[in-house]
Amino acid sequence: MKDKIIINGAGLVGSLWAVFLARRGYQVDVYERRSDMRKAGFVGGRSINLAMSVRGWKALEKAGVKDQLLSNALPMEGRMMHSETGELTFQPYGKSDQAIYSVSRGGLNRALVEIAEDFEGVNFHFDHRCVDADLDENELVFSLPDGTIKKERASYIFGADGAFSALRSEMQRTPRFNYSQSYLDHGYKELEIPATADGEFAMADNALHIWPRGHFMLIALPNPDKSFTCTLFLPFEGEQSFENLQTDDQIHSFFNTYFKDAVPLMPTLLEDFKDNPTSSLVTIRCNPWQMNNRMLLIGDASHAIVPFYGQGMNSGFEDCTILDDLAEEYGEDWNKIIDVFNDTRIEDANAIADLAIRNFIEMRDLVGDPEFLLRKKIAAWLHDKFPDKFLPLYSMVTFSHIPYSTALREGHAQDELFKQILALPGIEENWKTDEVIAIFENWLTQKSNANG
Ligand SMILES: Cc1cc2nc3c(=O)[nH]c(=O)nc-3n(C[C@H](O)[C@H](O)[C@H](O)COP(=O)(O)OP(=O)(O)OC[C@H]3O[C@@H](n4cnc5c(N)ncnc54)[C@H](O)[C@@H]3O)c2cc1C
Repeated sequence: MKDKIIINGAGLVGSLWAVFLARRGYQVDVYERRSDMRKAGFVGGRSINLAMSVRGWKALEKAGVKDQLLSNALPMEGRMMHSETGELTFQPYGKSDQAIYSVSRGGLNRALVEIAEDFEGVNFHFDHRCVDADLDENELVFSLPDGTIKKERASYIFGADGAFSALRSEMQRTPRFNYSQSYLDHGYKELEIPATADGEFAMADNALHIWPRGHFMLIALPNPDKSFTCTLFLPFEGEQSFENLQTDDQIHSFFNTYFKDAVPLMPTLLEDFKDNPTSSLVTIRCNPWQMNNRMLLIGDASHAIVPFYGQGMNSGFEDCTILDDLAEEYGEDWNKIIDVFNDTRIEDANAIADLAIRNFIEMRDLVGDPEFLLRKKIAAWLHDKFPDKFLPLYSMVTFSHIPYSTALREGHAQDELFKQILALPGIEENWKTDEVIAIFENWLTQKSNANG
């Protein structure tokens, strides 16, 4: 008989990790503070979507649930940039067969819970809010809607209870627990572009649309019902800010100035803007992620990041892949697995947190910048010419399984390379040159010398 395992949180990461563990034959009990999303109709209402890339798909494949989920995912092959005057520019994300996928958060979460419960025998306990934990006894305390208090123990406990994790707050009270949270000055608000009167997409559906405007931006991802979910990222305070968008006139004038081509596609803009909350964006880091090698934080509970690389869920799903690989390697010795995971994964989580902030700057400021676009073109050319020696940073993060910390280091090295290339006189006109290749080869040599 295998150990009993508790997962706190039936969000995206908790429900996927439950599938992995149940497949290995464990008795898995998942506790979730919300009501059962299937009964509460969680999927209905606004369709909030997420970008899934190869790290996420790999975990779903390993858990044996990829095919069920792929049919509802929409491929986005690149960014479609909308200028202030309405010109469109398409920038592919990678090679022609590479895409990231728009998936419904509610649909994905619901599917994972159903697979875990119906096919893998996982026990879900909804309406159970974790309010306390005894870290020495490996015990969680839950509060139920009728006021009942329940205590549950298990050999191993995983905290997948999100950015404001109850389990992590208990750990924070222990000595030498490092914790930091930092908020961006920007918040976000979700808006909608519905399907047209003919039931079609109002814009190209094979792209993630971006309206980059310097200190703020609007993005839109397609949904299977042919609508788009838009997200406005804007400072809370300042000249262009949520604080200054209070009246109908202010909202209209702001959108007509900066997102003119989107306004006719958003018939419920005013209502959506006023009804939908303005939410904040936080980066959370902590160390350790584990207690006594028997309790482990995973997903946003240990590493919440800002959404600009589309890697929050992907990195949480990658946690599951790595843990399952370690289970293979260490013969399901969970004390060892938790210890090794804690020692090796935190560096990568910190790296993707840094990369996500870096991509925020890239998306809002640079995607319309000619030098940035030239760098992208040269990077794609170098990758075509030297596929084994050069992979652009975006591809490393989004289309590979290279550890995030390696990608971050390589990204810094690539910044140095492009500083030299872009300084060449006349580079804008002529960049497919021997001079560029010479700089590249010299950079490669220096890099390999530095790496010993
Ligand atoms: C605007 C925005 C856009 C994003 N876009 C992307 C994207 O495109 N791609 C991507 O990969 N990621 C994206 N993310 C990040 C992604 O949403 C998160 O990384 C992901 O949801 C983390 O999953 P999780 O299961 O760890 O946490 P959550 O999804 O937050 O799940 C935590 C679960 O724990 C439950 N819970 C919380 N407290 C308790 C408690 N005390 N007791 C019991 N249960 C509890 C919650 O109800 C919830 O069900 C985005 C995030 C934001 C904010």
